[in-house]
Amino acid sequence: MSEVKLSDLKGIGVKRLNSLNEGGIYTLADLLSYYPVSYKDTSKTIPLSYVKEGDFVCVEGIILSSPKIQYVRSGLNIVRCTLTDGVYKLPLIYFNQPWNMKNLYQGREITLYGRASMYKGSIVLINPEVVQERGIIPHYKAIENIGTKTMEGIIEQALKYIDSLIVETLTDEIIEEYSLIPLKEAVRQVHRPTSGESLNLAKRRIAFDNILYYQIAVMHFRRRSDEGIKLSVTDTMQEEYSALLPFKLTEAQNKAISDIEKDFESGKAMNRLLQGDVGSGKTAVAFAAVYYMHKAGYQTALMAPTETLAYQHIESAKKLLEPAGIKCGLLIGGMKAADRKKALECILSGEWSLVIGTHALISESVEYKALGLVITDEQHRFGVRQRKRLSDKAESVPHVLVLSATPIPRTLALVIYGDLDVSTMRGMPPGRLPVKTRIVPENKRKDMYTFIRQAVSKGERVYYICPLVEESDKTEAKSVQEMYDTLSKGALRGLNIGITYGTQNAEDKKKAISDFSLGKTSVLVATTVVEVGIDVPQATIIVIENADRFGLSQLHQLRGRVGRGKKQSWCFLLGERNERLAAMCETNDGFEIAEKDLEIRGPGEFLGTMQHGKSTFSIMTGDMRLIEDAQNCAKQVILGSKKHEELISSALEKYSYAYDNIALN
Ligand code: ADP
Ligand code: MG
Repeated sequence: MSEVKLSDLKGIGVKRLNSLNEGGIYTLADLLSYYPVSYKDTSKTIPLSYVKEGDFVCVEGIILSSPKIQYVRSGLNIVRCTLTDGVYKLPLIYFNQPWNMKNLYQGREITLYGRASMYKGSIVLINPEVVQERGIIPHYKAIENIGTKTMEGIIEQALKYIDSLIVETLTDEIIEEYSLIPLKEAVRQVHRPTSGESLNLAKRRIAFDNILYYQIAVMHFRRRSDEGIKLSVTDTMQEEYSALLPFKLTEAQNKAISDIEKDFESGKAMNRLLQGDVGSGKTAVAFAAVYYMHKAGYQTALMAPTETLAYQHIESAKKLLEPAGIKCGLLIGGMKAADRKKALECILSGEWSLVIGTHALISESVEYKALGLVITDEQHRFGVRQRKRLSDKAESVPHVLVLSATPIPRTLALVIYGDLDVSTMRGMPPGRLPVKTRIVPENKRKDMYTFIRQAVSKGERVYYICPLVEESDKTEAKSVQEMYDTLSKGALRGLNIGITYGTQNAEDKKKAISDFSLGKTSVLVATTVVEVGIDVPQATIIVIENADRFGLSQLHQLRGRVGRGKKQSWCFLLGERNERLAAMCETNDGFEIAEKDLEIRGPGEFLGTMQHGKSTFSIMTGDMRLIEDAQNCAKQVILGSKKHEELISSALEKYSYAYDNIALN
């Protein structure tokens, strides 16, 4: 039998075939690993009293009284009615679905499916659908030219060939030891679940494979970079470095520095992640490493994700390190030819001990005299391959230190940064005023604007973050512009307001940010682009519109833009109070936030938002144990590599790109 091709499937012509290819689907087997993004579980209903905010629920009951319609403004009408099970009541709200006036008549017995949301202080179902089909119904993400239903149809066809398409990848021992189900069964169940329990087992198996493959790849790469520059850090060196600092190192900083010292002394190449909240003092730790390297005759390259950040680093580096005779220099993309030439000479001759820059640091033409350490600030902008490329420039493998202000719970850090050792700094250096965070209900919006005006009149500055732009909605630029218009014509009239957003051209972006940091503008209307790399100590307020739509970790990152000066800072969250916003008000500790975020969303979603492009963990369970199991299994596989050659090579193949793509948002 010749192999069945995608083009053999009913409904697949040239146009759709192209779309599938563009979506990374080339074979029927690829199609079978296009898993549903969600499921609609209408197999069971739950009592109304069990309905919790955020859950997707299937409920049954009777419509209590005739629905009412409200015409709010042109283009917006709202139908309201109430569902009851005889004891409890659940409000139903439909936006722009006037036909429900007839559909949801009083006394109708009905089964509904939808998401329970908080609306004006109570739990409601917004736009729930009437359930026709009971069961666990998969939902596929549409791709261009191929809608959800078509996707379902072609997957249905592919499932007929599952026996020849899916080959078991794990040995019987592994399957048994970790209580997994066979791959074929898992794939079938994931697409066509017969019950909630079997779907869970199926997801568990697929998640296990995902993590296992990834961990195998990570462990494999890690094993390669063994030998490193050995140097010993003396007490004198430690004391000398401490003496350079205008402050006393905190316990957390000392601990992190001693982790690095141990790595330097080990003779193996360091691969360390230093994670700590914004402002926790990672720079002082990183510069200790620079100092030790310099003393031992080696150079350090420090890569920043943006030029703005590179400039900030060079400033503080010069202030701190040059008095100790450590020359620091800058190498960035847009330099004048003459400056660049000079910079390259200083790097090659070893005159510069610390080179700070952006991607330009890894361009082919940069040669170092003796590169001993590579530091990347804000890891998320650098793939492993880039790190490797930079490492390749050195004669022996340089040490690598990765700084990250995106705190990740330890267990997950092991998954994501499987190739890195992790040093964690909790808490802040002394003398810092924690940012005060408040949820601002609609009826307090006016007061907030008054507060903002007062702050601005005292020379303080304000970030104003616009709502997230949903895919099909409208462009980011438009949403920022609208917010700008609303504010400058209304509540913040007369103030100097600037705007910036991700897709803005580089020059305007630079200007918007410099105007704001110079105080030419007092309010900066922005999208989440301000997350990275802007440091304006005079900014004391950050307003986040529709905060209830942001993820917890992202809110925390945004909040980190303020609280950098001596004055009290504020974070105002507009939106309905929910668990996430409440957590924001309770703590300023990034690790607590990350743990809470993980608890609310589960590892699957948590990781899901942490990467761009290809989805590495397309299916995950909320099961932390599983992650540990898969890790242990990966260790077994790597140690007994002979027995698992095929598994290892497919893991490497699968993750050679994904490994490069792991990025934090
Ligand atoms: P981040 O971890 O965000 O990179 P920085 O290294 O930029 O944080 O430090 C934030 C601020 O805290 C800087 O102004 C720095 O000088 C200051 N700082 C760092 N360590 C200490 C300390 N031990 N005591 C007092 N201030 C410190
Ligand atoms: Mg920093």
